[in-house]
Amino acid sequence: MKELSKIWMNGKFVDWKNAKIHILTHALHYGTAIFEGMRCYDTPQGPAIFRMDDHYKRFFQGSKSYQFDVNFTMDQLKDATRQLVLKNKVRSCYIRPILYVGYASIGISIVDKPFDVAIIPVDFTKYFGDKADGISCSISSWRRISANILSPHVKASANYLNSVLAKREALNSGYDEAVMLTQDGHVSEGTGENVFIIQNGVLVTPPLYDGVLAGITRQTVMELAYEMDIPVRERPILRDELYSAEEMFLCGTAAEITPVLNVDQRKIGDEAGPLTKKIRETYFDVVRGKDERFIRWLDFVHK
Ligand code: PMP
Repeated sequence: MKELSKIWMNGKFVDWKNAKIHILTHALHYGTAIFEGMRCYDTPQGPAIFRMDDHYKRFFQGSKSYQFDVNFTMDQLKDATRQLVLKNKVRSCYIRPILYVGYASIGISIVDKPFDVAIIPVDFTKYFGDKADGISCSISSWRRISANILSPHVKASANYLNSVLAKREALNSGYDEAVMLTQDGHVSEGTGENVFIIQNGVLVTPPLYDGVLAGITRQTVMELAYEMDIPVRERPILRDELYSAEEMFLCGTAAEITPVLNVDQRKIGDEAGPLTKKIRETYFDVVRGKDERFIRWLDFVHK
């Protein structure tokens, strides 16, 4: 990974090499962090952060659920994020804001513990690298965490141990990604992506009550589909519906729109299907500022 120059920590721009925390940081021991993943894209009007408001809204909602204090306002964090892109002199990057319980003393309680915030710019382009045009998925033997264990709606660090188990299992078996099911056997999501299938020309995705993160890319895809007159349904999906899907893709800020070409060795296609291609092309135009209809989603770094 290429190092960039600055990281924002609790109100200060710190040199990359000095962005350190104490080994007794609560979050390291107990998974007490809430984070976001956003992308800054290069557009004809300069670098722009895609749906920054929506990402910070989810960040604040998560912090409220867990009773983590954020010692900064949304405007302060948005401003810091724009400045961070400028200071690092990048035209595009991935951005990782993180709110974490800091260093005080050992013990689980978060009462009277410090809450720290950092924003980290990361230099990376394609999440699936040279597989970005089509991946293979397995159905994980690990079930997705359910709402009465940990909230799947909050982007909390602890949730990602569930994803780590599923991802490692998939890679061990030669697949690129895992799709997790709920305890009831409904399709939930990938380890860092939401799932869509196309069935009889209809775009189908699991509902939020099936253990999925309310993905901002998921929401974007649904709005683009509406504009493109592609019908969308949110409903529980069973495993075999992935095997017989006409098309399938995963989506997320990091993964963008990634076509799925086979699931558990059942072939879906040799390449992205026609609707997936159409949605993917439109998505890339939107995030890169080439579609005037959705320019409101871009937060330009040069104000
Ligand atoms: N599900 C999980 C578990 C994720 O980690 C992500 C990535 N944030 C997503 C879905 C997609 O969310 P978004 O489109 O907001 O990046």
